[in-house]
Amino acid sequence: MKYDVVVVGAGIQGAGVAQAAAAAGYSVLVLEQTAPAAGTSSKSSKLIHGGLRYLESAQFGLVRESLHERALLLKLAPELVKLEPLHIPIYENSSRNALTIRTGLSLYALLAGFDKHALFKQLPRHAWNELTGLQQENLKAVFRYHEAQTDDAALTRAVLHSAMQLGAELEMPARFMGAQRNAQCCRVDYESAGVQRTASCRVLINCAGPWALSVLERVKPNRTLPAIELVQGSHLLLPPLLNHYFYLEAPQDQRAVFVLPWQGQLMVGTTEKIHQGAPEQSVCSTEERDYLLATLQHYFPTLAIPHNQIETFAGLRVLPKSDKSAFSRPRDVLFDVDDERQPRVLSVMGGKLTTYRATAQMALARVKGSLPTKEHRADTARLPLIPVEQVVVAGGSNPLQKTGTC
Ligand SMILES: Cc1cc2nc3c(=O)[nH]c(=O)nc-3n(C[C@H](O)[C@H](O)[C@H](O)COP(=O)(O)OP(=O)(O)OC[C@H]3O[C@@H](n4cnc5c(N)ncnc54)[C@H](O)[C@@H]3O)c2cc1C
Repeated sequence: MKYDVVVVGAGIQGAGVAQAAAAAGYSVLVLEQTAPAAGTSSKSSKLIHGGLRYLESAQFGLVRESLHERALLLKLAPELVKLEPLHIPIYENSSRNALTIRTGLSLYALLAGFDKHALFKQLPRHAWNELTGLQQENLKAVFRYHEAQTDDAALTRAVLHSAMQLGAELEMPARFMGAQRNAQCCRVDYESAGVQRTASCRVLINCAGPWALSVLERVKPNRTLPAIELVQGSHLLLPPLLNHYFYLEAPQDQRAVFVLPWQGQLMVGTTEKIHQGAPEQSVCSTEERDYLLATLQHYFPTLAIPHNQIETFAGLRVLPKSDKSAFSRPRDVLFDVDDERQPRVLSVMGGKLTTYRATAQMALARVKGSLPTKEHRADTARLPLIPVEQVVVAGGSNPLQKTGTC
């Protein structure tokens, strides 16, 4: 069987790449070992956001692109992406004062092109009491701005469903076992329902998230692996103790911690902890749980937290290896390609849920040297995304002609 593109992984990046490639007219096969969004894409903070805090590390391009994608997703996926008001309380001893936050939010609005979602305000003192439970002592100011919230797994399913409607095929559960690349194509070996199968393609796109290196290790001939690191971020899920959304500064280390009502629960996150070992072993540690609970209790001192009703989940970010703290490292997506002129294997690592569509466009641009020109079937910037309960595997239904020789 021959495809233009084989994608490994049906997280948000794999789903996005499959959608973009199918929309561009290519024949696409997606291999997913477990389920759509089984990895990081169901363990994020579930925000479709510009990333206010990235302004501090001057990642203006990333913030602008994210805000643009946020505006687009609010239009394309109104059932999946909803705007919510976030509150930033400033205390006497907060590391960022009211002027800093006002400046940051103004810049954020500027990068959003001053669209209607970018408006923010400083709440008058009499309105602070409405933020039930929030510590009022030494409170100096409260800002309200907006971010969008989603169900990350549902968004991933919707994008994958859209890709399949455009003709992409999905094999699931199907585990990538290895690949052999040469000047003409790539032979891909995978295992599906205990059966060894082979597909050939012009381009292999590795969207295996935290498993990206283990996929690359099995591509022959071997190359030097990219220098990346896995950084765990954990969240707590509590009963619905609060009704408002908050963006807080952890008292221990001034990191950003979100407190977000989500699907009838209260979500608190996240942490940053270097992860060693297999991705599937990632779990929220006791220290991370305590750190998040301490932050919540610091800002909501009277909140009665039912300690026996705390659920947790942990996801893994793929970040460039560095001596810098995870918090201050760039959050741009990382691309690794085997040959710039005649690409055969491209890895798409890290990045953001928010920018999956733009990332997919960039990924396709990186491999276009090995793909023929095809008639476009759709523009992903105009394709509505519809929620689907599950993505049904319908093998062999690709209406597109499969091309390429190995
Ligand atoms: C804690 C945390 C919070 C975050 N919060 C946000 C946020 O609020 N907003 C935002 O925009 N971004 C956020 N992000 C970033 C975003 O979640 C990730 O960048 C994104 O989910 C990564 O998606 P992915 O497709 O690359 O990886 P994954 O979702 O991990 O997908 C990889 C897929 O590959 C499959 N796979 C692996 N190996 C194989 C194999 N051999 N064969 C077949 N399939 C395989 C896996 O099963 C998995 O489904 C957050 C990240 C973290 C860690």
